[in-house]
Formats: sequence, C-alpha cells, structure tokens
Amino acid sequence: MSFAAAKAIIKHSRVKAVLLDLDGTLYFEGAQVPGAVQALTALRKLGIPLRFLTNTDSKPACILRRELAAMGLPVAELEIFSAASAALRFLWEHPDSRSYCLVSSELANEFAPFHAEEGAVDYVVVGDFRDSLSYRVLNAAFRHVMAGAKLIALQKGRYFVSGEGYNLDTGAFVHLLEYGSGKTARVLGKPSPDFFKLAIEQIGCSPHEVVVVGDDVTTDIAGARAIGALSVLVRTGKYSSETLENSPVKPDFIVDSISDVPPLLGEASNLTQHGS
Ligand SMILES: [Mg+2]
Repeated sequence: MSFAAAKAIIKHSRVKAVLLDLDGTLYFEGAQVPGAVQALTALRKLGIPLRFLTNTDSKPACILRRELAAMGLPVAELEIFSAASAALRFLWEHPDSRSYCLVSSELANEFAPFHAEEGAVDYVVVGDFRDSLSYRVLNAAFRHVMAGAKLIALQKGRYFVSGEGYNLDTGAFVHLLEYGSGKTARVLGKPSPDFFKLAIEQIGCSPHEVVVVGDDVTTDIAGARAIGALSVLVRTGKYSSETLENSPVKPDFIVDSISDVPPLLGEASNLTQHGS
C-alpha cells in the first residue's frame, strides 16, 4: 500500500484521538526513543487529543509525569492512562458498588473513595500491593471472592526485573486468588479490550475514531484490533519481526518509529502497510 492510500484510510476514519504506548514507543531503557519529542510536538500541532498508555499499576499519574519529564518527554498528568487509571475509571463508572482495593501506598489516596475495609463488597481490586502484602490481607480478599465479589486485576504480569533481580508481579498474586477461589479475574490493564475502551470513553469518542500506536503486537495491537481501532506498530522497544510473524494479530500499519506517526496523520513519510 502506498503512503497516500494509507493516509486516505486514516483520513477516512476521521481520527479524533491517538493512544500512544509509552515504554518501547516513546522511551526505551530509560531514554527517549530518537525523535520522540519532535513527534509529540508535531502530533500536538494536529490538535488531536493524545493519551499515553502504560500498564503501570504501582504509581499515580503525577509521579509518572515527573519520570517522563526527567526523560525530556513533556506529557500532562491528565494525558497518562495507566492500568491504575483504568481501574479508577471502572470504579467511578460503578458508583453504587463497594470494593476491597489492594493497591500501593502511593495509589491508596486515589482508591480510598472506593475502598471498603469492612463489610461485604462487589469487587476485589488487585494491583501492586507489595507494601501491604500479608496473609491477613490476601485472605480477606480471598474471603470476599468466595462470598461472591468479582475479582478485578489491574494487570497480570508474572514478574518484573529490577536492579536487584527478578520480582513477583501483580499477576502472581491474582493467580493465587484465582487458584484458591476457582474464579477468573477480569483484567483491566493491557491487553484487555477494557483498558482501551476505558481510555477512549474518557476522551469521549468511538473506537473507530482512534489510532493506537505501540511496540507490542500482543498487547497494544491486539487490544486495538479487539475494539476496532486502527493500529500502528513501531519497530522500536520490544518489537521483533519474529514475534510479528508468529502473531495471529497483525497491525494495520507498521512504521520504523514514533517519528513516522505524525506524517501518517498529517504529512508524508516512509510507511508500509502490513502485508505489502
Ligand atoms: Mg510498549
């Protein structure tokens, strides 16, 4: 497909928002992807709302914004949409429900209006709760699920790697509760379609009016395709041609990096459609 044809598809879909993955798309291994700031500036000039996606479930947007600023990436707090943002949005959309929320101390304030320490609950919400993890807390969550509460996971990562080595991630504890209860958690982080739907609802447009840009075909692209949004895969971060070839999910478009995204939406560049 020619660039003009690809651009025509984008134009025809009347794009009203762009959802950009952060890790691997705008930055990688602690530094900006080359051209990321210029691409952000160009995207902002188009006047389209932007949202920056991350599966982070341990920190509030104000801290993520500072971390991005330290890497030279100017992003507003309200533009950041994390797994925690998705859970907060979900709880906000269920105002009559009661929830037992296992989250980090940094997120405790934001979840406090929804958290019920005592009594029956409708949802058990599990995020990164390393700093309050105990048998008592886990078992309280387990009892709620056994009593009929629905299990909600901010994300289901098995482990993450820090400077000290491997660490159990949120998914390991969600799995523990799933195993004990025989129930399956509803995941609100990537690659769940819920994550993308909740982000788009917040902007106030429809999935077909949105372009999702990311480096991960199994999360960013799979989520975009599941809700009917256009998807752009960048060849940065964790992109690998092998993963793409083996994936049953294919992006609508593939570009070298975030630098090629503004031209796709507004100007001209080196774009290839998948399969061409
Ligand atoms: Mg990524």
